[in-house]
Amino acid sequence: MSDSTARPSIEFGSGGARRLTIVRGDKAGLWDEQGRRYVDLGATHGAGSLGAAHPDIAAAVAEQARTLLYLGSGYGNPVRTAFLEKLLGLLPPSFGRVFLSNSGTEAVEAAIKIARSATGRSGVVAAMRGFHGRTLGALSATWRRELREPFEPLVPGFSHVPFNDASALERAVDGSTGLILLEPVQGEGGVHVATSEYLRAARSIADRSGALLAFDEVQTGIARTGRLFAFEHSGVVPDLLTLAKSLAGGVPIGATVTSTEVEARFRGTHHSTFGGNPLACAAGIAALDVTVRERLAERAERLGALAMARLSELPEERVREVRGQGLLIGIELREKVAPYLRALEAKGYLAIPAGATVLRLLPPLVIGEDDWHNGLDAIAEVIVHGAR
Ligand SMILES: *Cc1c(COP(=O)(O)O)cnc(C)c1O
Repeated sequence: MSDSTARPSIEFGSGGARRLTIVRGDKAGLWDEQGRRYVDLGATHGAGSLGAAHPDIAAAVAEQARTLLYLGSGYGNPVRTAFLEKLLGLLPPSFGRVFLSNSGTEAVEAAIKIARSATGRSGVVAAMRGFHGRTLGALSATWRRELREPFEPLVPGFSHVPFNDASALERAVDGSTGLILLEPVQGEGGVHVATSEYLRAARSIADRSGALLAFDEVQTGIARTGRLFAFEHSGVVPDLLTLAKSLAGGVPIGATVTSTEVEARFRGTHHSTFGGNPLACAAGIAALDVTVRERLAERAERLGALAMARLSELPEERVREVRGQGLLIGIELREKVAPYLRALEAKGYLAIPAGATVLRLLPPLVIGEDDWHNGLDAIAEVIVHGAR
């Protein structure tokens, strides 16, 4: 452990906890102050899909910073336009408008406002175990009680239904519902993959009721699940799509994508000072280029399939279930995950939880094959031999 972690943390909300200090990185490598290398199996929380310091992102950011660091979104800018065209070029033609912000929760917040305004209805139906962010609107759609309770009352009109249960969704949606908000794979909530039938049912329930359908792909978006967007697995196209995390290769960004029809029904205004800034857009262009050029969706699918085969051999006495899609994988243990994460860290591998008992793997899509294989070995070892 590094020296600086011996000081209590002055960061709000850290509980004064000491933790590992990281000073630099590359693909899946993260180094502490003493020069010890760790492998990122989730430490960059899905924002580091291209690794911790991709040279193309670094070059794009440096060049843009020297050219035009900031510009308000009231002015046109060719870098922003190029980024939006590139993003829309990867999406089905029904999508024609993008609102840019700076984070996932802002992307969801915009989707909620757009749906309210476009439909004239304030009801939102979201899923149990769903996670959509921590600002008050997005938090109202988030499921976990510990995240919500200290901040109540939240925004009225939100309800939660069991995930992957089409009839429960059908019963919950009525004439007051403006938005159905779902993750194609629930990430924070324990890695639960939506079935294609469920997403198809959600599409038709939305169509029949006049609600809009939003997929929150903040975590699943941009090649993570083995497709550029997770909705491609089912072919179900939503009305609204939220993106963030890895969209600009690790630079803060959020995007709410809609059809032109939805925009035409929108009344009011929505705006962000930093949304669509040239720095993030330049990084976004570079990130999309790298993702397509390096075929990272295919890579995620291949490395994910490899892992699922390997992890399915883990002993049933310790593992309840292994779930996942591409390089978003959850290993549900029969006991608390925290000691396992500590044991992995001691071996030089950084993974993250998804709830109390799920070990979540969310590695950079550019992770080297050796790091991935060794990481899976390390996981098998701590699970088979126990964390303590
Ligand atoms: C991480 C996440 C968010 C919130 O994103 P922030 O950038 O942390 O605000 C929202 N939705 C999903 C599905 C996420 O995984």
